[in-house]
Amino acid sequence: MENKDCLFCRIAAGEIPSDKVYEDEQMLAFRDIDPKAPVHVLLIPKAHLSGVRDLTADNSAVVAHIFATVPQIAAKLGVTDYRVLTNNGADAGQTVQHLHFHLLGGRTLGEMG
Ligand code: AMP
Ligand code: ZN
Repeated sequence: MENKDCLFCRIAAGEIPSDKVYEDEQMLAFRDIDPKAPVHVLLIPKAHLSGVRDLTADNSAVVAHIFATVPQIAAKLGVTDYRVLTNNGADAGQTVQHLHFHLLGGRTLGEMG
């Protein structure tokens, strides 16, 4: 575990249970505990990054890896139309300080706020 105080590091380490839908050596995808749509999954790197603010040319390959898993995760969950988003900073709605991408689908999604 990279950060004992980080909720998603603890989920990635298996210390806190999650409803996993996909896992490999670099990342984990699990269902959001408070879903905003019928399909609401969080995709996280296992390595701790606090958010988009931490990304650099040296550590961002995991983002491409995470996005490359999206089509298969969406197919597994039965959605063809979906939204992938990330919040960076409190004013943008970030509440967990570990980089994560929301995968939302299963209903008609409104315009971005
Ligand atoms: P954000 O507000 O963009 O930082 O997203 C954090 C998301 O994490 C929210 O949608 C929460 O519902 C979700 N969340 C918080 N705790 C847990 C948990 N233990 N398991 C799954 N999802 C969680
Ligand atoms: Zn973390």
